[in-house]
Amino acid sequence: MKNQIHEIPIIMYHRILNKKDVELGSCYSEINSALEISEFITQINFLNKKYSIISLSKLIAYLKGEADVPSNSCVISFDDGYIDHYQNVFPILKELGLPAVFFIMGDCISGTKKVRWLDKFYYILDNTPYQKNSDKFNEIVSDFYRTEVEKDNHYDDSKLKTFIRNSSEKDTIIDKLSSTLNVKLDLDKINKKLYLSKENIAEMLNNGMEFGAHTMSHPDLSTITLEDSEKEIKDSGIIVRNLTNKEEIPFAYPFGSQKTYNKNIVRILKENNFSCALTSITGTNNTETSLFELKRIDSANLELNKY
Ligand SMILES: [Zn+2]
Repeated sequence: MKNQIHEIPIIMYHRILNKKDVELGSCYSEINSALEISEFITQINFLNKKYSIISLSKLIAYLKGEADVPSNSCVISFDDGYIDHYQNVFPILKELGLPAVFFIMGDCISGTKKVRWLDKFYYILDNTPYQKNSDKFNEIVSDFYRTEVEKDNHYDDSKLKTFIRNSSEKDTIIDKLSSTLNVKLDLDKINKKLYLSKENIAEMLNNGMEFGAHTMSHPDLSTITLEDSEKEIKDSGIIVRNLTNKEEIPFAYPFGSQKTYNKNIVRILKENNFSCALTSITGTNNTETSLFELKRIDSANLELNKY
């Protein structure tokens, strides 16, 4: 069946958690968008039954015409490099003997004392001594918000989050927010609690897992200068190559929609010897798909009967 066109899905996962067990103030980031472990197990069992789960490198070899794969192949991917990928995901994949690929942020590996701005943002809201939505909290944050964002507007944490995301002064604003809300950011402690360590990664590699780069600090590459994009891409590639001892490594665009990358960014990826790049554009992949625009199926939209 060599010349048959296969349509191969890559499933995209983010955090996998038991939300009710998440200790307040410890592991807060994007909890609302995380998938419950029980739901993850249901999905994995379904995928394992219906598909031949193959590694991303096997898929790349197939798309380059260097190997054949079963027509019902499927790849499993995880973005962002949080500790739950070791604690909650890896034991399940190991038991089932399934490969997966994990995309990590170069800055955010346990031990670097660095924390993604978004995690700092959530940590501050989670650990402030002011009770959330109390009059005092709303007064303080509304003042902050009006000063920093726009006048005559009331506090709304998703608006504030968007404002910080779009700012080039993220660190300054986060520092102001942490002092306004009286939260000390112990970066070493938060970093160790949230992200995969080198030891976690080594153990996962030894058990058939693959790793790829996801920039250093998770910016939307289309909103920063090309020079900064190049640094984000290059530096994260060096880190993942050092961790994996592999030259051929994949990349996943932060956010990953069509507007978050362009031909200059693809050129930088090629110049830096990345094997491929994954988007978050919905779809499956075949031999016609560009290796630097691989499509994915978000696990949140995984209709178990459709794919
Ligand atoms: Zn990401």
